[in-house]
Amino acid sequence: TERPPLLDDDDGGILLYSASSSSSGYGYVSIEKQRQRLPVFKYRTAILYLVETHATTIVVGETGSGKTTQIPQFLKEAGWADGGRVIACTQPRRLAVQAVASRVAEEMGVKLGEEVGYTIRFEDLTDRDSTRIKFLTDGVLLREMMEDPLLTKYSVIMVDEAHERSISTDVLLGLLKKIQRRRPELRLIISSATIEAKSMAAFFHTSKKRRGLKGEDCVPKTEPAILSVEGRGFNVQIFYIEEPVSDYIQAAVSTVMSIHDQEPMGDILVFLTGQDDIDAAVRLLTEEAQNNRKSSSGLVVLPLYSGLSRADQDLVFSPIPRGKRKVVISTNIAETSLTLEGVSYVVDSGFSKQRFYNPISNIENLVVAPISKASARQRAGRAGRVRPGKCYRLYSEEYFVKEMSAEGIPEMQRSNLVSCVIQLKALGIDNILGFDWPASPSPEAMIRALEVLYSLGVLDDDAKLTSPAGFQVAEIPLDPMVSKMILASNQLGCSEEIITIAAILSIQSIWISVRGQQKDLDEAKLRFAAAEGDHVTFLNVYKGFLRSGKSPKWCNKNFVNYQAMRKVVEIREQLKRIAQRIGIVLKSCESDMQVVRKAVTAGFFANACNLEAFSHNGMYKTIRSSQEVYIHPSSVLFRVNPKWVIYNSLVSTDRQYMRNVISIDPSWLIEAAPHYYQHHHPNSIPH
Ligand code: ADP
Ligand code: MG
Repeated sequence: TERPPLLDDDDGGILLYSASSSSSGYGYVSIEKQRQRLPVFKYRTAILYLVETHATTIVVGETGSGKTTQIPQFLKEAGWADGGRVIACTQPRRLAVQAVASRVAEEMGVKLGEEVGYTIRFEDLTDRDSTRIKFLTDGVLLREMMEDPLLTKYSVIMVDEAHERSISTDVLLGLLKKIQRRRPELRLIISSATIEAKSMAAFFHTSKKRRGLKGEDCVPKTEPAILSVEGRGFNVQIFYIEEPVSDYIQAAVSTVMSIHDQEPMGDILVFLTGQDDIDAAVRLLTEEAQNNRKSSSGLVVLPLYSGLSRADQDLVFSPIPRGKRKVVISTNIAETSLTLEGVSYVVDSGFSKQRFYNPISNIENLVVAPISKASARQRAGRAGRVRPGKCYRLYSEEYFVKEMSAEGIPEMQRSNLVSCVIQLKALGIDNILGFDWPASPSPEAMIRALEVLYSLGVLDDDAKLTSPAGFQVAEIPLDPMVSKMILASNQLGCSEEIITIAAILSIQSIWISVRGQQKDLDEAKLRFAAAEGDHVTFLNVYKGFLRSGKSPKWCNKNFVNYQAMRKVVEIREQLKRIAQRIGIVLKSCESDMQVVRKAVTAGFFANACNLEAFSHNGMYKTIRSSQEVYIHPSSVLFRVNPKWVIYNSLVSTDRQYMRNVISIDPSWLIEAAPHYYQHHHPNSIPH
């Protein structure tokens, strides 16, 4: 039988299996030993010295070198968490926050939620008194500033994965720079896999001399320090395909099978784009492995994307039985945020899901788009962590060389800025256009965001938050359109229902995703389908779920995703608490669905569409920009095609599809947003 090759370990440490893998026969390496073998360990003293003496330290180091898991521990060991202070480490992704926090708790031998904790939206696993190292999303840290603008409880804030340039990271960097001026004792660490360290340093370098107290030596240097951690990546051989593939899921599956048939042991990491294509690939591979007897025994196929249950997440990091090969099919979360041990082969589809925003039409889309060269290199690098590896790119070399862009565009420059603007306003930053951004957003996008917030009644004529509506909307950690819908439900007497809808809209899908069983799913949906549309259908599912006693069996029978529904119940509880805090009275409208639809309209009037009069194929046009859109096949209103609808979001494939659609009466639009509709679109709505 084939046994896993012993990885060469003679240069003092490449072999980094988790302690629990001892059972699989790799040999036991103590956690302490593992920590010492990480590249970052050699820089421990240097990092601590720089942090001590500089307000800002920039740490650049290859993925897997130990930045995220080790630096917070170094800081704690050096006393930065003494006296009740807290060390914060931010991540752009929720899943990374959870995974990294649980790893650090394990390394320190403490229970997660005590000394080491984490906070993500709708989930707080920290303890007010005992948590010393706290992992959180950058979005959550921004929210914390609403209560504590100077973030006084933190001694060090490590902004991790800064190269991702997520919108919250960028806003956070701008705000932290301001905080630093008021809190000279605060230390920042900006860390990332690859970053333009110089331009980041220039951003943080304030030439203004701090009004010095006398003891100059206790004031840290304002010029940022830059440290780069030398990794020890192994050579990765790159393979390209000759001809472009039409179906990258199928191509990925075939590539995995041929690696498995022809290459020596070593795990495989496949980069696809999202839950749908990952689930599809997992299914295809599992089937393939079952049919193909020769290779049937060896594969353990696991998905990795946000929205997985904790148990499924843990599987990805757990050792598998000896002699088997792990295949992890992931979103770009495994590109730099998470490191999986033992990967020797990478299959790169060349795509990821990215947000794009068009300020002219004011439409934001999550689309599958080509990655940048920088991303492609990161992905390939994942194969060479423990020994030389191979990377199979599902695109041609010519495409890589000639067409792939060198770097991605910061999210700030391709997003709807509504949430970002309202948060800055809530923090008292009035001059948004003059804000010190690491990458300036386009003025058009800014102006659009201000317009939307104005039409929602969140901003007044002076572009200040309205009271109380603006402040209330800012308090709710959801898209302002959803928050506005919740506020409106208070007046309409349907807050119980709308909070349920808001909770469901904040997760990906409540249905079990099925390829091949589409018909069964459609039939199951019909049991809940409401003529009014998807939002009311959601209420029916939620009621059914409660009536079943939250039964997993009931969920399975009805193609409802049990994990998702549990999450909905949890989120709903949190939203209820927030709603009550801002003075919303919880009330049910029982079966009066008209008020529910009016509340949805109050938040989403800007997404109104009208069925084209002579359209035979269900074409709608958006009122605000006359864009062609269609109802998504997953909607209960698909083929029903009511004359007037409102959608929650758009997805674009071959066409623009509306997801989560509800039918409305056009007169409600004028009721909900007289300014928006009478001034901008006076003739588009029948009076
Ligand atoms: P970096 O932040 O520099 O990319 P990390 O600190 O995330 O590096 O990772 C350091 C090491 O810890 C890696 O070898 C990685 O595999 C391991 N590790 C991180 N998280 C986990 C986890 N949840 N389970 C097991 N090992 C982990
Ligand atoms: Mg990291």
